[in-house]
Amino acid sequence: MGQVFDLAIIGGGVNGCGIARDAVGRGNSVFLCEMNDLASGTSSWSTKLVHGGLRYLEYYEFRLVRHALMEREILWQIAPHIIRPLRFVLPHHSGLRPAWFLRLGLFLYDHIGGRKLLPPTRTLDLAHDEFGKPLASGRFRRGFEYSDCFVDDARLVVLTARDAADRGADIRTRTKATEIRQVDGIWQVTVEDTASGERSTIRARALVNAGGPWVENILASGAGVNAKAKVRLVQGSHIVVPKLYAHDRAYIFQNADNRIVFAIPYQDDFTLIGTTDIDYHGDPAKVKISAEEISYLCTSVSEYLAQPVKPEDVVWTYSGVRPLYDDGASEAKAATRDYVFELDLPSGAPLLSIYGGKITTHRRLAEEALQKLAPWLTGTKAPEGWTATAPLPGGDFDVSAVDALIAELRRDYSFLTPAHANRLVHAYGTRAQKLLGQAGSMADLGQDFGATLTEAEIRYLIDNEWALTADDIVWRRSKLGLRLSAAEIAVLDAWLAVRGDAPGPALRAARVQT
Ligand SMILES: Cc1cc2nc3c(=O)[nH]c(=O)nc-3n(C[C@H](O)[C@H](O)[C@H](O)COP(=O)(O)OP(=O)(O)OC[C@H]3O[C@@H](n4cnc5c(N)ncnc54)[C@H](O)[C@@H]3O)c2cc1C
Repeated sequence: MGQVFDLAIIGGGVNGCGIARDAVGRGNSVFLCEMNDLASGTSSWSTKLVHGGLRYLEYYEFRLVRHALMEREILWQIAPHIIRPLRFVLPHHSGLRPAWFLRLGLFLYDHIGGRKLLPPTRTLDLAHDEFGKPLASGRFRRGFEYSDCFVDDARLVVLTARDAADRGADIRTRTKATEIRQVDGIWQVTVEDTASGERSTIRARALVNAGGPWVENILASGAGVNAKAKVRLVQGSHIVVPKLYAHDRAYIFQNADNRIVFAIPYQDDFTLIGTTDIDYHGDPAKVKISAEEISYLCTSVSEYLAQPVKPEDVVWTYSGVRPLYDDGASEAKAATRDYVFELDLPSGAPLLSIYGGKITTHRRLAEEALQKLAPWLTGTKAPEGWTATAPLPGGDFDVSAVDALIAELRRDYSFLTPAHANRLVHAYGTRAQKLLGQAGSMADLGQDFGATLTEAEIRYLIDNEWALTADDIVWRRSKLGLRLSAAEIAVLDAWLAVRGDAPGPALRAARVQT
């Protein structure tokens, strides 16, 4: 009946891909199936912060904050192309938390996570500082500035999967696990190709359920599985508006409801605003922002800014569902953001289900998951902790060398505009050269799809990053959807559809029907 994998993983979000990478690097044989595109679940709908989570200190989540803070610089160093440091401005609001309380929180934030590369907190005189200028005049005199990092979340997932595949993992996208069962102490996972409907069975000695918001659906597809933990689905939405101010800092605004809302410089010309916290009971794939959430986010930031943000300013929105461990907290905002494992041994072979977690802590989560599964795994090629120093694809350069890499790319490919070179380096790092090959002009990169998206890049994404549809390319492998018109995206869809080896969604749907 073919190969028995050491480990099978269901779910191609940040957690599933992180576990696949770590496990295969240690010398285990690994299979991962993702029912849609990589990062098509929660992992592309986050606020995109690699952060300790300042506000979790108020919930006494010291373990989570400490671990997350420690991960910031580790992740930045292994992926300096897709992760960058970001300074946050926290204005003191006279009606909310007192200044001494903010200062204490930031003191802890600076010191409990072993910060070495990121600059520390400083106090700001917002009445005179340029970072006070976008704020409502005369209302905010004092503030603080502290460090965290910003990440392209979807690319983090794809590059983690790419690295796992380069090391030998079998990564299958558009492949849904429909049934799990144990036969003679071996897991049998029935998987379905979502395009053709074709089914097959793979076998593994250990199984990880990294289904995120679908974690319980996967458990329901298994006979004899007895996981008791519960998932709490909490919706979070973001809005994107044209750039609100010229400087490069993000703001963290406190709300009267005790929540915080971020305003973050985004994709050069935009500002990203989020997020919300609302219990969700529907299909995770159908989560959508409501008019109330848009209004809430606009009102929250307008409380601080000189120029109010209005719902009609919004150019894009996105929503995701946090698959939190249900710890019985009464309010969604208070439910723990830490991860919890549930290990089930129906007939001897382990099933590890994951609840909660953060983009920031996925690498550490993977290490702990493999500790739990250690008695059943054989790989001894690399020691625990190897993922902390091995760069992700394209990230094999120093964090201080991004600008030099951009300059080098422009020297080697003088036809690239500064913005194009900047985008390619921040997406592909040192692999940008592989994408551009021998090109000596824009024309050599093939068809131009607009907003610097070329046929060469699309072919690279299809060949190296599992891209199949226009959505994969313009919303997950890049955010060029913000710049391309609907007509331009339709041209891309049509181009993908006529390519026999990479059919677009319309053609794939037609094939399934016949
Ligand atoms: C609004 C919001 C803001 C956030 N902000 C941050 C932040 O700033 N920083 C941070 O660190 N974290 C943040 N998070 C948390 C973080 O995004 C999530 O914890 C993380 O992405 C969860 O990853 P996952 O792999 O567990 O789940 P997912 O990314 O959802 O992955 C699960 C995958 O499993 C697949 N799947 C499900 N069932 C099957 C099946 N039967 N067969 C095959 N595949 C299947 C799904 O298609 C999906 O792709 C935020 C979350 C939200 C919602």
